[in-house]
Amino acid sequence: MQSSRRLDPADLDRPVRQVLPELARGTAALARLGIATPRQALWYLPFRYDDFSDLRPLRSLIPDEKQSARVRVDAVRIEPGFGRRPQRVIAQLSDDAGGSAEAIWFGRRYVERRLQAGDEIIVSGKVTQRGWRNQFTSPEFSPVGHESVHTARVVPVYRLSGGVTQKRLRELLARVLEASLSAVEDPLADAERGDLPYLADALRAAHFPEDAGDIAPALDRLAFDELLALQLTLAQARRARDELAAPRIEVAPDASAEIIAALPFRLTGDQAGAVEAIAVDLASERPMRRLLQGDVGSGKTAVAAVALACAVRAGWQAVLMAPTEILARQHHAGLAPLLAGLGVRAEFLSGSLTPARKREIHDAIGGGMAEVVIGTHAVISEAVAFPRLGLAVVDEQHRFGVGQRAALQAKGSGREPHLLALTATPIPRTLALTVYGDLSISTIRELPPGRQPIRTEIRDRRALSKIEAFLAAEAAEGRQSFVVVPLVAESDALQAASAEAEAERLAVALPQLRIGLVHGQQRADERDATMTAFAGGEKDVLVATTVIEVGIDVPNASVILIEDAERFGLAQLHQLRGRVGRGVHRSFCILLSDATDPLAQERLAVVRESQDGFHIAEQDLRLRGAGNILGTRQSGLPPLRVASLFEPRHLALAERARAMADEVVEADATLARRPGLARLQADFAPIEDEGDAA
Ligand code: ADP
Ligand code: MG
Repeated sequence: MQSSRRLDPADLDRPVRQVLPELARGTAALARLGIATPRQALWYLPFRYDDFSDLRPLRSLIPDEKQSARVRVDAVRIEPGFGRRPQRVIAQLSDDAGGSAEAIWFGRRYVERRLQAGDEIIVSGKVTQRGWRNQFTSPEFSPVGHESVHTARVVPVYRLSGGVTQKRLRELLARVLEASLSAVEDPLADAERGDLPYLADALRAAHFPEDAGDIAPALDRLAFDELLALQLTLAQARRARDELAAPRIEVAPDASAEIIAALPFRLTGDQAGAVEAIAVDLASERPMRRLLQGDVGSGKTAVAAVALACAVRAGWQAVLMAPTEILARQHHAGLAPLLAGLGVRAEFLSGSLTPARKREIHDAIGGGMAEVVIGTHAVISEAVAFPRLGLAVVDEQHRFGVGQRAALQAKGSGREPHLLALTATPIPRTLALTVYGDLSISTIRELPPGRQPIRTEIRDRRALSKIEAFLAAEAAEGRQSFVVVPLVAESDALQAASAEAEAERLAVALPQLRIGLVHGQQRADERDATMTAFAGGEKDVLVATTVIEVGIDVPNASVILIEDAERFGLAQLHQLRGRVGRGVHRSFCILLSDATDPLAQERLAVVRESQDGFHIAEQDLRLRGAGNILGTRQSGLPPLRVASLFEPRHLALAERARAMADEVVEADATLARRPGLARLQADFAPIEDEGDAA
């Protein structure tokens, strides 16, 4: 690492190009990852670490453990896939101590392009004993280099995009850190910091730890700052709200009875209970803040429909905001006829409408003719003004940032609308209270009658051809299937490539079927068109990334195949499984996994054995334990970047942050005297765009 200039604190928020011109073309590479300033680079944290500080001789590899070794590639062989068998790439490895081993990768992952006989590489991955030799299964690898940031130490692994390589990014971040860390000021007073490390030290250790043991304290500190930023925002919102009253929406008992009677089914006991609690809340001047949680398909939308109709009957406007265009459309398609039957007019609003149509809707809202508005986050755009908003419903609320929810609540023109948030990802209660504080919770545990349990099976890749035959048989019966491709944490582009490859492979294996493909790198309209075609029965199989996770409703889909299932969070698997079993057909969820470690198997067994999202969430919490430093994707919670509320230590930090935020905001609501904290809050402002329906 060459030593370079030292930046001043003010430089941290200026363009990298200006303050570190010596990075030259590196600036453009950083920009492709969304990094414009040194501060953004400091907070571009690794999602995982490879501990290469302990390299093992091949002779002493331990089966069934994740390990690293420094090896020579003696030969690389590609075994083409044929029929239903995926392609395999096999490398023969040896090391200086005379040991040998093999590495194997399945499917078209283009490994062979990065690997040649004669290469010296560090290989890292799970080792299995195959007969007399050890085999790395789908390991990570990187060429042996001279740079200390890549080898023979604990190495950070970052999310990539825009064609920037891991190695290049690591080098760039090392240089930015070198120049920037001394300019980092600590926003916490010593007493507030307590036993946590200084911010600059934490940032250094989070990127380039001297020792694996330095990582956890560093991430704790960064997690605390993130949680504090969130809690400051929440504390300010609470304070501002204390001054606002909500409209009293009194619902006459016969009015609500009429609304409930107009539904095409009888409410379950839990649904009726939720409706009652909401009616009580609506009649009060204290703004309702209620979370309605219930498993996929438990009938939350029906409860929301009753609430919307009640608000309108009492003379108020109401809005429902959903995280994606397709979900918003589905809600509108389902709710509008129901509401029309009650004489209530529901409009649809999203960024995809023509400007003229948007203006029409804006006018209808402004003039009060639109009584219910259902849409994407287009409903919180500035041009939308509700003269008398009484109720706001947010679907899949955890997909929105705190700022977006606040913007929705600010649409009440002088009054605070009542807020009902829906979520299918159950949040353990302690967690919800820590994160949201003053939220009431209604829970639907009972599913509507007549639901068939989804049969869940765990299979390994050897069963792939049988599984494909099963998909074909279901298609012959007129059913449809989802195929979810393995989670690739490194980058969305790799994930998309893997989805494309899988769609191609299936098209060859099952030529008689109509196969669709959706992933996050497609344009939103292209993705929506494919989803709509699938929902309309024009595709037999939909190959997808987790973009299908959130609530789409295709009652005719009867099978979901999830590949490399061990890579997903349990709540996520449960959500994905909820894409099937929504109609009258018997449905199946196949968890495909070659994982052999007992923990992975136990986790998958939890999903196989239970259809209860709450039970699964609790078990997930239990099984994640402390080993999981950065956590996988958060679910059911605001999108946190560093903190993991599945981590008991971080949960304790969240409580500490909440207490501190209350105290700080009590004394200084605008943080005028705490610019460091205001800065922190800005740094962690939620990412407002989910890449959809802007
Ligand atoms: P969620 O939003 O909780 O995932 P939905 O509200 O979309 O669930 O409901 C799933 C399906 O169940 C919908 O087709 C809905 O019409 C139906 N449904 C909801 N409540 C009931 C009920 N009480 N009885 C029968 N069917 C119901
Ligand atoms: Mg729903």
